[in-house]
Amino acid sequence: MERPTEAAGSPNGRVGVSYLADGRATFARVDLDALAQNVRCIRGLLAPGVELMAVVKANGYGHGAVMVARVAVAAGAAQLGVATVDEGVELRRSGAAVPILVMGPVHTAEIVRALRHRLSLAVGDAAAVHAVRNAARALGGELTGSVHLKIDTGMRRYGTMPAAAVGLARLIAGHAELALDGVFTHFASADDRDDSFAQEQADLFDRCLADLIAAGVRPRYAHAANSAAALRSVRYGYDLVRVGIALYGLRPSPAIALPVGVRPVMSLHSRVARIIDLAPGDTVGYGRTYRAEVPERAALVPIGYADGYRRGLSSRAWMGLRERRADVRGRICMDQTVIAIPHGMPARVGDEVVIAGDAATGAPGLEELAELVDSIPYEVATGIARRVPRHFWQGARLVAIEDLHGLHELDD
Ligand SMILES: *Cc1c(COP(=O)(O)O)cnc(C)c1O
Repeated sequence: MERPTEAAGSPNGRVGVSYLADGRATFARVDLDALAQNVRCIRGLLAPGVELMAVVKANGYGHGAVMVARVAVAAGAAQLGVATVDEGVELRRSGAAVPILVMGPVHTAEIVRALRHRLSLAVGDAAAVHAVRNAARALGGELTGSVHLKIDTGMRRYGTMPAAAVGLARLIAGHAELALDGVFTHFASADDRDDSFAQEQADLFDRCLADLIAAGVRPRYAHAANSAAALRSVRYGYDLVRVGIALYGLRPSPAIALPVGVRPVMSLHSRVARIIDLAPGDTVGYGRTYRAEVPERAALVPIGYADGYRRGLSSRAWMGLRERRADVRGRICMDQTVIAIPHGMPARVGDEVVIAGDAATGAPGLEELAELVDSIPYEVATGIARRVPRHFWQGARLVAIEDLHGLHELDD
């Protein structure tokens, strides 16, 4: 099929030809129907009136933030959460209209831009409050600075200590340029088997909220829960839950079960690029860490550690080839990996390979990949490189592809 010209493939433009579907053999398939269902399942667990913030930082945990945000909002997410101003701006530019909270600290120089795009900011000390007020003033009072007061109840990362919370809330309330839209905290170990520390943090957060109310401060949203806490108990729900990993169908930790109906959203795919015949004594790849003992066949798959297929998976992971398990042979290279062809299998160049994320095909899940390299699904999912095109599927149709040149929505 023909590839469009540079002009036709302009970033974020619509392309008539689905040229990209004929692009790189290696791609990530993002199942938007699974995502929508996950959003609905998780919302179904929340107490009445509790809203869902879809956390789409780090490019939607590697799934593609723009499409994920759009589908999550359509499925009932009331707000979006990001880590940086740039991430929030990307969502606004793509048309997201719901509240967007930048959950972490922000560089002062970025605040004007954040306000221009109506991003809410997390503030944890007086300096941050003043910086947001100054930015709002610099904009001539046309925009209110929406802030969420972050309270550190035990994470020791970002936020004010509880004893200073009322003072900061008063400081915010004293500035007409600012609106205190939320008060929040973050759990350090809600995904542990034992959630007693999360309970302590919630108790402390409750006392802070009571102090604030006693001082006449009543923010619209109190929020605390990440995925683990939201799945664990309605106790942690408050007015809003900030759910990331579970939306993508991945568990925060092995201790936390996902609700029935929640399933993985992303899977990684490729095709056999070459068949390699190994004679006894042949070694595979850098460092010659695999040596064939008998004649065997192997297949080259064009994915490597620069795609996020971690080098630590060398000699450990496997892929799904024709519904069978095909072990990784030798070291994973930057751009390529060799897998064993199971004995007797008539594999050929062009055969589909499922690298991860689709257990029905013999491939490991992203959670299993994470375990194999002593990591967590968060790191593996966010580590899938930009050069791996994301194919977005909805209702059995490929609706968009995101690659190095931008997001391309495909016409019917
Ligand atoms: C990333 C993040 C979340 C989401 O966490 P998950 O475990 O992915 O649900 C929630 N709140 C804050 C402050 C975060 O940084």
